Formats: sequence, C-alpha cells, structure tokens
Amino acid sequence: MLSVYTKTIVKILDGKKIAEEIKLELKAEILEMGKNGMTPGLAVVLVGSDPASRIYVANKKRNCEEVGIKSASYELAENISQSKLMELISRLNDDENIHGILVQLPLPKHIETQKIIEAIDPRKDVDCFHPENAGRLLIGQSARNASRGDADGPRFLPCTPGGILELLKRSNIEVAGKDCVIVGRSNIVGKPLAALLINAGATVTVCHSRTRNLKEKTLRAEILIVATGKAGLISADMVQPGSAVIDVGINRMADGKLVGDVDFENVKNVASAISPVPGGVGPMTIAMLLKNTITAARNLSS
Ligand code: NDP
Repeated sequence: MLSVYTKTIVKILDGKKIAEEIKLELKAEILEMGKNGMTPGLAVVLVGSDPASRIYVANKKRNCEEVGIKSASYELAENISQSKLMELISRLNDDENIHGILVQLPLPKHIETQKIIEAIDPRKDVDCFHPENAGRLLIGQSARNASRGDADGPRFLPCTPGGILELLKRSNIEVAGKDCVIVGRSNIVGKPLAALLINAGATVTVCHSRTRNLKEKTLRAEILIVATGKAGLISADMVQPGSAVIDVGINRMADGKLVGDVDFENVKNVASAISPVPGGVGPMTIAMLLKNTITAARNLSS
C-alpha cells in the first residue's frame, strides 16, 4: 500500500515549560505540607570536582530552593575512602530531616558505585537506582492490585525515564499500543525506560551499540527515544515520518554548544513532535527528582 504522509507543523516538546508547570504544582503541594509542619529535605552528595557534575548539582539545588525543598549538600574530596562515604550515607539514612538522598554519578574509580547505591535506604532513594526500587519498577503495578490499593508498585519513577513519560503525557502523546524504539540500554535511562513503557502498554524495542542495522529498527518507531551520548547519531533518514522523537543525549561540542543525539534541524522536518536539547528531557528530569523527594517525605511520615 502506498503511504502518503502530509507534513504538518512539527510540535516542539517544550520540557522547560512543562517542568515549570510541574514545579508550580509541587510548590503548592509543599506549602500545604508546611501547614502540617513538614518540609521535604534532599541531601545531595558530590564526590570530586568534575565540572559537569558540579553544574548538575548546583542546578538541582537551585530547583529545590525554588519549590521549597530544603537541600543539604555534601561536597567531598576526590580521594575520599569508600568507608567514609558509606558512613555519610548511613548518617543520612538515619537523619529524620532528610527524605531523599542523591549521590551524583559518576563516582571516582576507586569507589564501588553499586555498593554505595545499595547502601542508600530504598525509601530515600529518589533516583530510583537501588535494586529494590529497580525491581519494583520492573514488576510494575497490576491494575488489579492498584484498584485494591495494594502498594506493590514502584515507590518512585526514575527521574529521566519518569520525566520522559510525563513529557509525552502532558504533550498528549499516547504511549499505549505504540511501537517505541529506545536507542541506549543503560541502567539509568534505556533499561528502566523500557520497563516503564512496557508497563504503560507500549511495544518496545531496545537498541544499543551491538544492534545490527539500527536504521531498520528506528524507522519502525512511532515513538523514538535516543539516549546514547553520540551527537548526531540519528539523522532524518532514520526517522519514520510523523513519529515523535525524544532526545535524551547531552553532548558538549568544541564550541561549548550543547547538542543532543538527534540531528534536530533535519529531523524536525520529518517528525510530528521532537524534544530539543537543551530544554527537553533535562528540565523534566529535575522536576521528577523534586516530585520524588516530596513522595519520599510523605511516605516516610505516614
Ligand atoms: P551510557 O554511556 O551509560 O549508555 C549509552 C548507551 O548508548 C549504551 O547502551 C550504548 O550501547 C549505546 N550506544 C552508544 N553508541 C551507540 C551507537 N552508535 N548505536 C547504538 N547505540 C549506541 O549513557 P547514559 O544512558 O547514562 O546517557 C546517555 C546520554 O543521555 C548521555 O549523553 C547523557 O549525558 C544523557 N543523559 C541525559 C539526562 C537528562 O536528564 N537529559 C539524564 C541521563 C543521561 P552499549 O550498551 O552496547 O555500550
């Protein structure tokens, strides 16, 4: 059958604007919590002086302040020992004023990242990286149990995948029944996103560096999500006309400019919707972190 696609105006998925809307909602929620004497608290732990990590941490703290979350930051020397870092995590686990703990990754090579993640109290694991939370995410929540009010589902959604789902939802892009292709299989983005999309009723293909004929797979996507850290990996000829494209990648070019993994200028002429970099998934990730901190505060006090 001959398929005729008539190009309409592309919709730019404005993550920055949507994140601001979410932050207003969260601010109102925190004001209400304040009436009951509760202020959500987030501990942000930074090890070493990686410039990108410093920017991310400062950004997260500024966003906390904007909505009324109390943030406490711990800036530790690059050569801190694993046991000293574990001691700090243990103190934060016991601190009643701290409801969320975020350890900025990557950690220096001498630290066993997985051990640190597993040391965080899963109830305070607002990044949703702890195996208990990752497992709950994979299992999802059955409609039957949800309707009975059983709390067998995930406590939190991981920030970037959760932010992507929220971006799609608030842009009126239906996920259920869609063919979704994710490029990237990391524990932070690709894998948890696949679980979330499956739970939301999508049919999901996950591609990675060993995938043969990537273009053949991406062309099948009604929703294409790219998280590789490879600038310009997805060109216009790899995108199904009329599809929605979500660009997670953050790549700093030699001239200092930030770009995604998708050739935005050309792909926007093919897709029906596309998220920009910067201003797409990044702000949504932070909004979800704030949301998770509020959820953690509520759960811990109930
Ligand atoms: P990782 O490096 O952990 O994973 C990258 C993934 O991309 C891997 O699965 C890798 O495959 C795959 N990949 C690499 N090259 C190719 C290729 N040529 N073809 C197909 N697949 C490929 O990165 P992250 O998931 O942590 O992050 C990905 C990007 O998203 C980065 O730019 C990061 O900065 C950004 N990011 C943005 C966030 C935001 O809030 N906007 C949050 C988190 C990340 P393989 O597994 O086989 O090696």
